[in-house]
Amino acid sequence: MTTVDLPRVSDTDAPLGGPSLAQVRRLVTAIPGPKSQALSARKTAAVSAGVGVALPAYIVAAGGGVLIDADGNSLIDLGSGIAVTGVGNSAPRVVAAVAAQLAQFTHTCFTVSPYDSYIEVAEALNRLTPGDHLKRTALFNSGAEAVENAVKFARAFTGKQAVVAFDHAYHGRTTLTMALTAKNIPYKDGFGPFAPEVYRAPMSYPYRDGGLSGVEAAKRAILQMEKQVGGGNMAAIILEPIQGEGGFIVPAPGFLPTLVDWCRANNVVFIADEVQTGFARTGDMFASNHEGIVPDLIVLAKGIAGGLPLSAVTGRADIMDAPQPGGIGGTYGGNPLACAAALATIESYESDNLVGRAREIGAIMTECLGALQLADARVGDVRGRGAMMAIELVDPSTGEPDAQLTGRVAAAAHARGVVVLTCGTYGNVIRFLPPLSIPDHLLLEGLQVVTDALGAL
Ligand SMILES: *Cc1c(COP(=O)(O)O)cnc(C)c1O
Repeated sequence: MTTVDLPRVSDTDAPLGGPSLAQVRRLVTAIPGPKSQALSARKTAAVSAGVGVALPAYIVAAGGGVLIDADGNSLIDLGSGIAVTGVGNSAPRVVAAVAAQLAQFTHTCFTVSPYDSYIEVAEALNRLTPGDHLKRTALFNSGAEAVENAVKFARAFTGKQAVVAFDHAYHGRTTLTMALTAKNIPYKDGFGPFAPEVYRAPMSYPYRDGGLSGVEAAKRAILQMEKQVGGGNMAAIILEPIQGEGGFIVPAPGFLPTLVDWCRANNVVFIADEVQTGFARTGDMFASNHEGIVPDLIVLAKGIAGGLPLSAVTGRADIMDAPQPGGIGGTYGGNPLACAAALATIESYESDNLVGRAREIGAIMTECLGALQLADARVGDVRGRGAMMAIELVDPSTGEPDAQLTGRVAAAAHARGVVVLTCGTYGNVIRFLPPLSIPDHLLLEGLQVVTDALGAL
């Protein structure tokens, strides 16, 4: 057997990840430092330019609330790899569970030679998701793949085709999910034609709705669906209970329940895309719970498995059992390593009361960001729930979105060692998605860095 010496970033002096890492912000070089810059050059030469990088500091270890880069900088993580590592990076329970599974078997394909952890994940999701009706679950690899399959279930069950998505929606980057996603640049531009039978309805966006109530916004959407599509043609509506990439838009109270009621009356499947909001993030296990809605199908991914790729569709047994056997599946869906990680992750959410922790984080962020809004008129709105909060930056004289300022604040925070992400249809939202494992002092320091960065511009 020939062994090949592969070049590595650093395998001897890299710190071990997980919560044992020192929980400090520490900059020893400019961000990105020389080693990261060298890696960026290799990235440009080897990786598709279509794969963008928000902050090109290359990571060698992570845990708690920090990311350690190749130059030895310790950055504060306010992004969780886009709301994925809710339980923290390399969380001990997840590491132990995955290591144990790794030593047993890595793959059989559940649809060829099944194993029990897939069933156990399905049982846990059936128990945890909103509603006490009979449910079933199917597992996939990515959020987009799960969204695609949710649409398949809805079409198989209703015998109808049309799907309605909303303004500002983000559902993924595959062909069908690009069609569902609202924003053209960067997600859709040049990639058409898009999947047919996808229609768009207006969202409830309290900050920009001119005082429309949730019920009024829902009636506006319903009127448009009835006039332009027709409930008799609609398989599903799909909606994020709090929109993620679209700008952390929390619809006005009443919007979601009114749409659910309309769906029930019209044999239209209500699909909640909780890929970003799911799993304790918003201060409840799922964002649907805040308004007491019970989706017919719920799509889950990101926070589900502590960073391993896994996604799920969970929902009404009659809908989930509609497709023919073999119609749903895939080679890797519900991979045993990902299932082991999910079971450990779910155990952490439940036994470590991470819902409570998300609320604490939310209280801290609400206070800090609220103070920032009072002090700085460019902060037009502070919104979100739990550990999913954002600020919308505007020109105070006109209320117009200020994407340029937003980009500069994010860049300044990055340069000071804080990983924050931007989002929003207008590119003028800074979002905060800290891992629920972040200590308070790092969270406060991270928010202070962003405050200072805005103040300096
Ligand atoms: C990220 C995201 C997706 C897509 O998930 P991928 O795993 O990136 O395919 C879908 N819906 C929402 C709400 C998301 O935030």
